[in-house]
Amino acid sequence: MDFQLTESQRELIDATEKLCRQLLPLAKEAHEAETKGDFAPLQRLRRQMAEAGLLALNMPQEYGGVGLPLLETLLLIQTIQRVDSTLGGLAHRTSTGAIGAVLELGTDAQKSRFVSGVARGEIGVSIGITEPDAGSAATAMKTRARIEGDDVIINGQKIFISAAKGHHYTMLYCRFGNTGRASDIGAIMVPHDAPGFSCSGGTLNMAGERQYELYFDDCRVPKANILAESHAFAKLISVYNVERLGSISRMLGSAQAAFEFALQYVQERRQFGRELADFQGLQWMLADMKVKLEAAQMLTYRAASNTASGLPSPLETSVAKVYVAQAAKEICDDAIQLLGGYGYMAEYPVERLYREVRGGSIYGGTLQIHKNMIAGHLLGRKNSQWAPRSGESGE
Ligand SMILES: Cc1cc2nc3c(=O)[nH]c(=O)nc-3n(C[C@H](O)[C@H](O)[C@H](O)COP(=O)(O)OP(=O)(O)OC[C@H]3O[C@@H](n4cnc5c(N)ncnc54)[C@H](O)[C@@H]3O)c2cc1C
Repeated sequence: MDFQLTESQRELIDATEKLCRQLLPLAKEAHEAETKGDFAPLQRLRRQMAEAGLLALNMPQEYGGVGLPLLETLLLIQTIQRVDSTLGGLAHRTSTGAIGAVLELGTDAQKSRFVSGVARGEIGVSIGITEPDAGSAATAMKTRARIEGDDVIINGQKIFISAAKGHHYTMLYCRFGNTGRASDIGAIMVPHDAPGFSCSGGTLNMAGERQYELYFDDCRVPKANILAESHAFAKLISVYNVERLGSISRMLGSAQAAFEFALQYVQERRQFGRELADFQGLQWMLADMKVKLEAAQMLTYRAASNTASGLPSPLETSVAKVYVAQAAKEICDDAIQLLGGYGYMAEYPVERLYREVRGGSIYGGTLQIHKNMIAGHLLGRKNSQWAPRSGESGE
């Protein structure tokens, strides 16, 4: 076990931070424009990030990716997010996002098309799992796909989908079979210009980003876009653990930024004729923040390191997720406190960082759902959450 970053990892982090700082003005412009429904600056940013080698970090080089192992990928997503959330979102979605499922489950032709397109900065892929009546109970999803000749016809609705507008495809989880079981669920790449597809204008979330509703009304997609046609739910969720680690790394980046800002601030701001940093009560807050940040990083890096034989361990991913999501909220909340009234104002970055990390307790499986999974593992039970069917005792 080696808990230190190597020299080359440190150099990679420094070089990435420099590149991101150069892209910062365009990232701010892209975020502003996106909130007004203009995605042109976002597309420019995507292309520039591709040229700078900041997209498709863990995708194989044969498909145009950077070819980094998962640990280095997460270190860079954290670094990129620490500089800016728009940059962090693009780095995550093109590396640890839905595109990972194409890499794991796709044919060579699908990988050449989608992974290479993402790596070149030409396309973005959102992920569509959640439905109005299927949130934590994701396998209750009703969106259906039926094969008709060379096409697939899709009907249904998804909700809360991140980065759907301004992206070009959704990796859609839907039912290919009629048994009503999780084994019916497969996945298909739906182009956003497919007939019968539409996307809402989006609902503004707490972090100032939009979550979209997707509608599939006899939506027709070529059969060649199917990634997995039933019996793939377990595999899809295993791949999804990579996505979880990517979004956990974004939380780490935001929490690190809040901690560093507060650390600097308490050494500049003076009250009672002294630096805030002179008050022991505040020193202990800083120490607690540092301990939480380090512990959160270690759990994330452990889950990323133990992937030599394939995908991350579900247990290690859930343990990291529960701790990081909680720690990130507390670190950002403490940063606000250390800045006092200024911390609460939009003029300073820490209130935004808090809003950025807050969603992490909800998306990618809520904290409660991850705790259910950890408990199930501890007790060696499947730990089904489903209500007993009529006639069953539930015991
Ligand atoms: C910022 C953000 C981005 C998102 N991005 C996407 C995306 O890109 N794609 C996508 O498909 N979805 C996305 N989602 C949706 C997200 O995955 C769901 O919101 C999440 O799975 C919870 O589902 P729900 O909102 O329906 O809550 P519910 O399932 O209704 O849960 C409500 C509350 O009940 C608790 N609860 C439910 N069941 C149990 C149980 N068995 N035991 C204990 N507690 C329980 C939950 O923890 C929660 O606190 C996003 C959500 C957010 C907030």
